[in-house]
Amino acid sequence: MKLIFLGPPGAGKGTLATLVSKEYGIPQVSTGDIFREAIKRETDLGKKVKEILGRGDLVPDELTVSIVRERLAREDARKGYILDGFPRTIPQATALAEFQTIDAVVNFTISDDGVIQRLSGREICKNCGTIYHVKNMPSKVKGVCDKCGGVLYTRPDDTLESITNRLDVYKKQTEPLIAFYKGKGLLRDIDSSTSPEDTLIQIRKVLGQPR
Ligand code: ADP
Repeated sequence: MKLIFLGPPGAGKGTLATLVSKEYGIPQVSTGDIFREAIKRETDLGKKVKEILGRGDLVPDELTVSIVRERLAREDARKGYILDGFPRTIPQATALAEFQTIDAVVNFTISDDGVIQRLSGREICKNCGTIYHVKNMPSKVKGVCDKCGGVLYTRPDDTLESITNRLDVYKKQTEPLIAFYKGKGLLRDIDSSTSPEDTLIQIRKVLGQPR
């Protein structure tokens, strides 16, 4: 099953991609995670994209496409994958169509207020990646992960300024993909304003049980 998870920042693409990846046994390919890992390791790629991510702008299409192309060429992605955060522009989607055939596009919907609310209190475990929210889903001990005891951090692009810009970029550059994939008959809308558990149930209905 070759899937794209589409939607504004904070819609829950990453959280749900992790859950669906486990349940359906297909890898999660998150361009955001790939860029953040490169920044952490201070690789050439990391140096190139650090400021772009900080501002909430998009990494250039050509660079992003080449990274995804390489990733999808790996053995574990042969039978299926979840693209989480890619494509984000029409040129990226067009490039992807030249080397991959997608089975479905899950479109996560949530209001702008919902996005701002979620992202402006988000905390992530440095060790295992579990996501918390200072108000809606706090960890038991402040700053410490319930699951593994790791330290919680706030993403540098989860400032109000960067969140607002990411929403703006989403509307201008990414939202046109909804019509693009609708036109191909691939789009499946999911209301992601509720809990991850609820959203997962909806996704199961749309995708069917794992084979
Ligand atoms: P979110 O959806 O919460 O904004 P992501 O982890 O998907 O977070 O992306 C974080 C940042 O990584 C984006 O703001 C952008 O700078 C960069 N990025 C991720 N995916 C892409 C992409 N497909 N094209 C260009 N830039 C990307």
